[in-house]
Amino acid sequence: MTDALAARIEAKRDDLIALTQDLIRIPTRNPPGENYDAICAFLDRRLAAKGFTCTRIRAEGAPGDSDRHPRWNIVVRIEGTRPGECVHFNSHHDVVTVGEGWTRDPFGGELDGDRLYGRGSCDMKGGLAASIIAAEAFLEEYPEFAGAIEISGTADEESGGYGGVAHLAQEGWFDPARVQHVIIPEPLGKDRICVGHRGGWWAEIETLGEIAHGSMPFLGDCAVRHMGAVIAAFEEQLFPALAERRTEMPVIPDGARQPTLNLNSLHGGEAEETGYTGLPAPCVPDSCRLIIDRRFLIEESYDAVREEVIAVLDALKERRPGFEYRLRDLNRIDPTQTPPDAPVVTVTEAAIREALGREAAQIASPGSYDQKHIDRIGRLKNCIAYGPGHLELAHKPDEWIGVTDMLDSARVMGRVLERLLLPA
Ligand SMILES: [Zn+2]
Repeated sequence: MTDALAARIEAKRDDLIALTQDLIRIPTRNPPGENYDAICAFLDRRLAAKGFTCTRIRAEGAPGDSDRHPRWNIVVRIEGTRPGECVHFNSHHDVVTVGEGWTRDPFGGELDGDRLYGRGSCDMKGGLAASIIAAEAFLEEYPEFAGAIEISGTADEESGGYGGVAHLAQEGWFDPARVQHVIIPEPLGKDRICVGHRGGWWAEIETLGEIAHGSMPFLGDCAVRHMGAVIAAFEEQLFPALAERRTEMPVIPDGARQPTLNLNSLHGGEAEETGYTGLPAPCVPDSCRLIIDRRFLIEESYDAVREEVIAVLDALKERRPGFEYRLRDLNRIDPTQTPPDAPVVTVTEAAIREALGREAAQIASPGSYDQKHIDRIGRLKNCIAYGPGHLELAHKPDEWIGVTDMLDSARVMGRVLERLLLPA
């Protein structure tokens, strides 16, 4: 990369720290999705002053959107002096709940050595700040460039992205005619390029029984025992079958190279009211509900994943007297993978080599992020996740982001802009 741009980014160290602190100090907790208007107003003020055209978009009618908790998003854009391609940095501005176990102020933005602490510092306000600093330094260094730069701050990634990137994609903001390259600065590490993620299917399985007095269970039919048979069948048939499969996609960690099934929650019988004593009325449960979270590989189809579970349940119905079930689909996420030789991948690989002097690793994420909406709704394939931070710190107490990592990532992002927006 040019020394001039690298030096300019390095000189913005204090600005980068202050910007990240300002972002952390706006508590955009989701749920319920609060202060989205405040963080969009903050980004609007900062980036309008740097010459960006700012558009704030409320995802009206999206899940969670209300007058109390409106789902606000912002997209800012600056045009170059010549036609060319548009590079878009997309960050979600929401953060997850704080949880227990903090020794730092979760919304204080405390700096200790190289570490900046706070909820969302790593996931992903540090990445958002790094992309802003990279873009601002690039604009100062190269007032004349080709194409356009866009930065977005979007809502609700932590709850599926429906009030954020999915909404923007539906409204055409990620149309390949107006945006050509998308980088999502999620905390995957400054020398790793994430090309996609596995799919997911959430469903509720309910076994049915017949209520009766608990002293005479033979007069009823116990839905919990039926669910026990479901779980036993999963153990015998489904889990071993999943362990046999392995994806070609570079999913990390290694355990996620196979499809996975999490039994998310289980409830049978009467609801446990507040003040529960352990002594409900003695009844045979007529309903038991299990939530499953099945993560699937790009080599598997959604229909086959669903059919595989249905086959286990139908086989039980054949051989187990009284077995009845209901299946309710809760959520579907399709896997996505950017081709390994897509332009944004190869350019970012070269930028990591040039800015950091190391070879980039290509990875894929075990869980999903907003790339799914950009791919499926926006029809834009040329998209990666690349940003500073350690994924293991996301959603944890005492979450932090390294200032050096943010600066290194900003240099890589600056180099990406040089390669894409300064054609010879
Ligand atoms: Zn995130």
